Amino acid sequence: MTNLELSKLDLEHIWHPCTQMSDHENFPIIPIRSGKGAVLSDFDGNEYIDCVSSWWVNIFGHSNEYISAKLSEQAMNLEHVIMAGFSHEGIIKLSNRLINLLPKPLNKCFYGDNGSSAIEIALKMSYHKNLLLGKNKPLFLNLKNSYHGETIAALSVGDVELYKKIYKNILIKTVQTKVPMNFKGMEVSDEEALNDLKNVLENHHEQLSAFILEPLVQCAGDMNMYSADFVKKACVLAKSYDVDIIFDEVAVGFGRTGSLFALELCDIVPDFLCLSKGITGGYLPLSVVVTSDRIYNEFYGTYESNKAFLHSHSYTGNALACACANATLDIFEKENVIEKNKELSKFIKSEFSKLLKYDFIDNFRQTGMILAFDLVNFKQKRMGHLIYKQALQKGLLLRPLANTIYFMPPYVITKEQVCYVVSVLDELLSKLR
Ligand SMILES: *Cc1c(COP(=O)(O)O)cnc(C)c1O
Repeated sequence: MTNLELSKLDLEHIWHPCTQMSDHENFPIIPIRSGKGAVLSDFDGNEYIDCVSSWWVNIFGHSNEYISAKLSEQAMNLEHVIMAGFSHEGIIKLSNRLINLLPKPLNKCFYGDNGSSAIEIALKMSYHKNLLLGKNKPLFLNLKNSYHGETIAALSVGDVELYKKIYKNILIKTVQTKVPMNFKGMEVSDEEALNDLKNVLENHHEQLSAFILEPLVQCAGDMNMYSADFVKKACVLAKSYDVDIIFDEVAVGFGRTGSLFALELCDIVPDFLCLSKGITGGYLPLSVVVTSDRIYNEFYGTYESNKAFLHSHSYTGNALACACANATLDIFEKENVIEKNKELSKFIKSEFSKLLKYDFIDNFRQTGMILAFDLVNFKQKRMGHLIYKQALQKGLLLRPLANTIYFMPPYVITKEQVCYVVSVLDELLSKLR
């Protein structure tokens, strides 16, 4: 079959995520036949460098031989088992490994099957725990410009207007506080953000169960990056008002910011840590909320006492997903990934710096394996969409966020591929003015 044939069949029955489907009247869906490393190949034989790790999940490349082998090994043995009353070896091993990689007192893993479900779990646990302590605190605090997923509560603690505004009337109660920013015309300093946080806490702390934030980078929030120092100060402040801290490391966990987990750089241990996306190397959906024995023990008691956390998902702790997660951790252990990425991220920065000759590039920034810049002073609204379409023609899968172009590749991308990405961007940007 050809791209065109498949894309027609696709549109007959598939409603794609985060898409205005009418865009595809003139712009066909691209059916992918196979993937290898950082490269995806379609049915007409075109290749695309996956500059976004297929929505930030695919950290060790497509069809990674090691993860694939571990997955098929697991599939021949046990694909899934109910996690209430039962367990399996992979999840026991995975939980033990995660706890060993995380700071104390993080010691208990509660599994979900996607990032949004991890957020829901953390919000519910925090609220429930406070209730068990005799504190009814129905509000959650989040940073402006944050993103935590699309299910109702996750959407409520997010602040990307585009995704949220339609559903205002059906969201749960939240309060927002300022976030440090460098976007042109929207600058907020650390100090201003911390002052705002202090005011919000002063006014609402009795009602607030938890403060949720993405440490270091608000990815869907146009790759807004802020310092570890801000994260630390903000968390210390919130803790001083008896507000739980939820770290959403769904996007930044597993090496993205330069350490295995962003919390290491922030020097803060949250009450709840949410992980997903990179956890299985982009193979299968899995998420986990990691918390402490202190919180776990609040739920420990008799069944009748309303203490049990009666939350579940059908695919919780799926054995295939856990096998991929263990394989992903194996790769981190065996291949010195974090150290290698340091070198690679330096190379990425120096290559992309070649684009700084364009005066319409602003707010050039990098945290670990994420690099981003903004296109400023254009009248056109969907500059990002324009670049997306043009880049595809040249064999790049980019997915700009509004006017922010970002590069968040699989860690296995080669230097040659990085150079190619920059040369294509250079060519496209040179035609913009
Ligand atoms: C992607 C994402 C989520 C939601 O995860 P899903 O698996 O898409 O539900 C939550 N938080 C952050 C920071 C994310 O990037």
